[in-house]
Amino acid sequence: MSRAIELMIRMHSEKTPSMQRGRATLTGDVILGVLGKLQHEHPVGSDAMMWRWLNDMYAFERLQKKMEELIPEDAKRKDLCKHMITLALMVFAEKPLEPQQRKLTSLWKNHSEQARRSKRLMRTWQVQINVMEKQLDGDSAFKTAQLVAAIAKRKQWIVDERQRLEEYAKAQAKKSCQCPKCGGTGVTRVVDTCSGCGGSGGVTLKADGVRKHLRQAGISQVSDSVWSRELEGLFERVLMGLCREGDEVSMIFGVMLCLECSQS
Ligand SMILES: [Zn+2]
Repeated sequence: MSRAIELMIRMHSEKTPSMQRGRATLTGDVILGVLGKLQHEHPVGSDAMMWRWLNDMYAFERLQKKMEELIPEDAKRKDLCKHMITLALMVFAEKPLEPQQRKLTSLWKNHSEQARRSKRLMRTWQVQINVMEKQLDGDSAFKTAQLVAAIAKRKQWIVDERQRLEEYAKAQAKKSCQCPKCGGTGVTRVVDTCSGCGGSGGVTLKADGVRKHLRQAGISQVSDSVWSRELEGLFERVLMGLCREGDEVSMIFGVMLCLECSQS
């Protein structure tokens, strides 16, 4: 079902001019009505769908609350269990975790339109600095002072630009797991496998990614026994549950929309 849901709603929203002749059979209202019905009959699955594909924060909070019911009464680290549920929700919606974000940041810093622009600017200023530095030995003290000031200015520009690129890359890396080098296709230059993502089109979470994320979040004192007894299983249960419910509801959603179409 994927992003199709979001695109479809946008396509049928009121502001969009209709591409069809006559009356559009599937309007935004109808789709919203179907979503409302789904929400009523399958709350978890429809929230899973809304969170994953529409970034719905209310759905995210409802799911968080619902999934916290899965935490066993006798769990020793309830705080960490809650954290694991949030992580499972992030992984389910393909939001990058810390280790993925670091890899994505470096990709954005090297393989994006912004990176190319920033690097071109920095290169130009560096060349200008080099030229001016060669002219510093002139006789005129006034001219030298002018050159020193111009060099200092460019050095600052370079620092600022590097900082700007860093911030841009970090912000982009939080948004999606898609590999910026190949734009999610997995290939560069016609047939070469993309070296940024290894051909998968995105920066995926490695097996130990969740633990690494916890470690980077400053939660390092998780013993192996707590991890295997309480956290690992909970994470898997939540993630599997979300996938199952989300898929099921996506299918029902499709069927209901087809029915709406055939009725009108
Ligand atoms: Zn790639």
